[in-house]
Amino acid sequence: MLAEIGAWDKILAMRSAPFQRMQVWEQRQDQGTLFDAAEIDAPFLGHIVENRLVQLACLQTLAAYDNVSVFCPDKIARIDYAAAGSTITLASGQQFHTALLIGADGAQSRVRSAAGIALNSLQYSMQALVATVSIQGGPRDITWQRFTRFGPQSLLPLPGDYASLVWYQQPQEVRRLLALDDDALLDAFRQQFPRALPEITGLLQRGSFSLTRNHAQQYVRQGVALVGDAAHTIHPLAGQGVNLGFQDVDVLANVLLTAWQRGENINNVALLQGYERQRLWPNHVMQRSMDAFSYGFSNDIAPLKVLRNIGLRLANHPGPLKREVMRYALGQPPKLPPPLQTLRDWLKP
Ligand SMILES: Cc1cc2nc3c(=O)[nH]c(=O)nc-3n(C[C@H](O)[C@H](O)[C@H](O)COP(=O)(O)OP(=O)(O)OC[C@H]3O[C@@H](n4cnc5c(N)ncnc54)[C@H](O)[C@@H]3O)c2cc1C
Repeated sequence: MLAEIGAWDKILAMRSAPFQRMQVWEQRQDQGTLFDAAEIDAPFLGHIVENRLVQLACLQTLAAYDNVSVFCPDKIARIDYAAAGSTITLASGQQFHTALLIGADGAQSRVRSAAGIALNSLQYSMQALVATVSIQGGPRDITWQRFTRFGPQSLLPLPGDYASLVWYQQPQEVRRLLALDDDALLDAFRQQFPRALPEITGLLQRGSFSLTRNHAQQYVRQGVALVGDAAHTIHPLAGQGVNLGFQDVDVLANVLLTAWQRGENINNVALLQGYERQRLWPNHVMQRSMDAFSYGFSNDIAPLKVLRNIGLRLANHPGPLKREVMRYALGQPPKLPPPLQTLRDWLKP
C-alpha cells in the first residue's frame, strides 16, 4: 500500500533495515527457532522502520497532491461531531465542515471521544523498556526475540551499527532498570539477553511504555470512521500494530472509492459499517493472538510448557504449519486447504 501511494520509495531513500530471518528463543543458551524468508520464497520477512519516518514519508506524499491541503503544524482546538456533518476548529480560528470525518489520530483519539465511541480496554501488567543501542559484529539481516517468564526481549537491527532493544518486564523492574546508570544497564542487557546476539557496546537512548489493549466498541458512526490505533491497540510483541492500521486504511479507501464511483453518500453509516465488518474481526483475532502468545510464554504452568515446547519444535521443522505462521506474520492470507478455505469464507462477517 505504501508503494502504491508512492511513500515506500521515500522510506527506503531515508532509512530502513530489511530482515530476512527471525530467531526466537525460550532459554538464553538454547539454539532457538529460526524463521527464514527463503522458506516461503519471500525476499524479506519485514523491514524495521522508525515510526516517524513512515509518518514523514506519508506526509511528503500527501503534500504533493494538488487536491490535498495540509494544515499542520496548526493545532486542532475543537472537534464538534454531528451526524449530519462535523465541524473542526483549528487554533488559528479556521473552521472546516465535513460530511465524513476520519479519525486516524492514534490511541488517544480526539475524534473517537468527540463521536462518543466507547472503548474496551485492558492494561497489561507488564511495561516495555526500550533502548537504542550500538552493536558490534554478528549478522544484521535477522531479528531476535526471546520469550521469558516475565515477558519477551527483542533486539531489532537498525541501519549502521545500531539496534533497537525492547525488554518487557513488570513495572517495578522497569523502574529499577531505568534508574541504573548507562554501564550498569548495559551489563543487565548483556547478562539477560541471549549470548548469540551481536555484542551490545553502547547505549544511546532509553525510555519506557505502558501497554494497553484497546478496542473501540464501534469503528463507525454516521459521518465518522476510525482507523489504526484510534480504533485498536495491541500488545506490540510481534510488531503488528501499524500493519493492522494500514489494512484498515486499505479497506476503508476501497469502500469509499466504490461508493463514490456509484454516486452514493460516503458518510452513510450503513456503507461505513461495510468497512467495520471487514476489519473488526481480523483486528480482534490479532489482538487475542498476541495475548495468547504473551500469556503462553510468560507462564510456567506445566500444560502450557508442554504446548510451548511442541509449538517451538514444530516451528523448527520446515513444513506447512511453519510457512502458515510466517505468512500470517507477514500479513498475507493463509493458503488453507480448500475445505478450510470454504469454512473460513463462510465464517467471515
Ligand atoms: C513500545 C511500542 C512498540 C511498538 N512496536 C511496533 C512495531 O514494531 N511494529 C508495529 O507495526 N507497531 C508497533 N507499535 C504500534 C505502532 O506504533 C502503532 O500501532 C502505530 O503507530 C499506530 O499508527 P496510527 O497512525 O494509528 O497512530 P499514531 O502513530 O499514534 O499516529 C497518530 C498521529 O496523529 C497525530 N495526532 C493526534 N491527535 C492530533 C490532533 N489533535 N491534531 C493533529 N494531529 C494529531 C499524532 O501526532 C500522530 O502523528 C508499537 C507500539 C509501542 C507502544
